[in-house]
Amino acid sequence: MEPEAEENGLVDLDGLGLSHGDATRLDVPVALDEVTLGGQEYRPEPSVPTARVDVSRTTSGYALRLRFDVALGGPCFRCLEPASHRIAVDVREVDQPVESVAAEIPGARPGDQGPDDQEPDPGETELESPYVEGGQLRLSAWARDALILALPNQILCREDCRGLCSWCGENLNGADPADHDHGQNLDPRWAKLRDLG
Ligand SMILES: [Zn+2]
Ligand SMILES: [Zn+2]
Repeated sequence: MEPEAEENGLVDLDGLGLSHGDATRLDVPVALDEVTLGGQEYRPEPSVPTARVDVSRTTSGYALRLRFDVALGGPCFRCLEPASHRIAVDVREVDQPVESVAAEIPGARPGDQGPDDQEPDPGETELESPYVEGGQLRLSAWARDALILALPNQILCREDCRGLCSWCGENLNGADPADHDHGQNLDPRWAKLRDLG
């Protein structure tokens, strides 16, 4: 959210000098902040991944695609041991102000914006990206939001993490369940394991 980070995370789209139909691909380092999930902090690794940005010039704006891979490192939701979760971000945005479109399409009436049942044509519809302003792409903000939208519900050290014993707080991964019966709720499966031992 720091203004400086925001400034550094800008890509000058108009400065690319693309004509309608032109496209280009940029590899841009983008700084990512820690994200909070379930009250825990998770650190993107690397913290400054190289983002791939595909830029296409449309009739009056830009079609954009952003891709980057990071791993989020932090405590396992269940056992609190270090865990890492890979995320592949792949998102798209289109920014195409309607005024210029109307001006460029013969017969289009700028005032004719009433509701209708017609399926909007993505080539002519007003599409505004919150990440494009004055020909500048706010890449840092877009990358941050895309990462947050791609977060999993929980981050685990492994799929079948057994977490902590609710009685004594010990890590149950690799522990003998029978040792954590604590005389409570004698689970028949554990009793069976104990007989085998
Ligand atoms: Zn775990
Ligand atoms: Zn226990």
